[in-house]
Amino acid sequence: MSQIFIISAPSGSGKSTLVNSLLAHEPDLIFSVSYTTRAPRGQEQDGREYHFVTREEFRRMIAAGEFIEWAQVFDDYYGTHRRYVDQGRAEGRDVVLDIDVQGARQLKEKIPQAVSIFILAPSREELEKRLRARGDVSDAVIRKRLAKAAGEIRNFGQYDYVLVNDDLQAASERLLWIVRTARLRAADEQVQARVRRILETFELEESEPGT
Ligand code: 5GP
Repeated sequence: MSQIFIISAPSGSGKSTLVNSLLAHEPDLIFSVSYTTRAPRGQEQDGREYHFVTREEFRRMIAAGEFIEWAQVFDDYYGTHRRYVDQGRAEGRDVVLDIDVQGARQLKEKIPQAVSIFILAPSREELEKRLRARGDVSDAVIRKRLAKAAGEIRNFGQYDYVLVNDDLQAASERLLWIVRTARLRAADEQVQARVRRILETFELEESEPGT
């Protein structure tokens, strides 16, 4: 049974670094590369950070039911293609999704056993500093992102885990342990089923005449 890990964080919370570190430590995880209508930024490559598509293509994909969840974030659309979750199920591998609060809610409704993790910066001031350090963004965009961050943080209660990213190393380790613990628990359920089958072989023996 494959597991779904949902990771959400306001932009500037250090989520990409944490997710990359998680994938480096647990290389068998499948990372779901979202579809988006926004333009690539900096070094982003089509098919690596996102699949970049036009609005027409995105609308076609919605109509065809290709997304397991999708949402409008800022002025663009973002969506998770069903094939990542299907691939996880088919290959028995766990899947990591980096999606916003709206997407997390939709996914939890469809897959309640998904494990959700919310990551946030230690303060508004720190988040603003990190957003400004990225360079190329205007004051208006920063204000918009801070307002969205506040809205997202208010929803932290819908998540199974919350991580405050004040120390990258510590947050990275906590994220890794959250994922490993959930995987261990899932593996333990399989072991329990196996133990029951082993026990059945004893009971069969004991019920045989003459024993
Ligand atoms: P950015 O444009 O900064 O890469 O991402 C903006 C926001 O969109 C982030 O909060 C990110 O988690 C969210 N996002 C990325 N992919 C998806 C997706 O497939 N679905 C949803 N609902 N949100 C997404």
